[in-house]
Amino acid sequence: MRPKIIVHGGAGEIVDEHINAHISGCQEAIEVGWEILDQGGTSLMAIEHSIRLLEDNPVFDAGRGSYLNQDGFVEMDAIVMNGDDLNIGAVAGVRQIRNPISLAIQILHKSEHNILGGQGALQFAQDLDLEECELDWFITDYTRDICKKQISNSKKFGTVGCVALDSYGNLASGTSTGGIKNKATGRIGDTPLVGSGAYADNLTASVSATGNGEAIMKVVLSKLACDLTITHDSIESAAREAIQILYNRTNSHAGLIMIDPKGNLGCAFNTPRMSRAWVDNSGDIQARIYPDN
Ligand code: ASP
Repeated sequence: MRPKIIVHGGAGEIVDEHINAHISGCQEAIEVGWEILDQGGTSLMAIEHSIRLLEDNPVFDAGRGSYLNQDGFVEMDAIVMNGDDLNIGAVAGVRQIRNPISLAIQILHKSEHNILGGQGALQFAQDLDLEECELDWFITDYTRDICKKQISNSKKFGTVGCVALDSYGNLASGTSTGGIKNKATGRIGDTPLVGSGAYADNLTASVSATGNGEAIMKVVLSKLACDLTITHDSIESAAREAIQILYNRTNSHAGLIMIDPKGNLGCAFNTPRMSRAWVDNSGDIQARIYPDN
């Protein structure tokens, strides 16, 4: 079957001077993921390589460029989920791992557990020789500056994510984040929580979410969106309903991208902007940041 892929660079009040970098970053990530899928690679492979690029791109709140916590350093969460066997790999609160999404993939494939955090996650990564960086490497002038200004968390998010359907009909999803600005040290967000930051089930859909993690957890947003595809006629209306439920129950803000088993794409958000890119039915890359289409 024809593969499908969509990525996002976070939902929020993306500042004007970051718009072009968000768009080009999402386009580069989708190109890499699409090439893998086009050449017969799996959805998990496409997700890992697309998200690695987004993590390495300092404009996004994931990997290098992650927001700093109250003590002035980065702690990152990531998750991947496979829609065929429902296997999961997730990491919580990791510090010096360059690409948390690759650690999550290794946990999915090689660990008997679903989520690793703290010292155990680091040890697991070191045993596999995953790349480590100094804590300073993750910090940019922009993240240092907004941390100093103690800018509030309201509607300012920038997590990255990717969902894909490969030519074998398998769905998968992945999400990676530095969390919210000025978070408490040790705070774990929604991203590594199964069903909140991501969910994938070949029977319903594959979802990656971004936004206010404390609220996303309350409605288990990604699993909610998957389940809504059962009763909704279109994936777009399932996506919109999930965001509406989040808003009705928590008065909060988020966004999500999704793909169903037939390859239909969905996206919804109630923040002013959400960067995202996908490959359309003609094989062309599309990228958007505003709510219109
Ligand atoms: N959901 C993330 C968190 O709360 C933040 C984001 O999506 O930007 O950690």
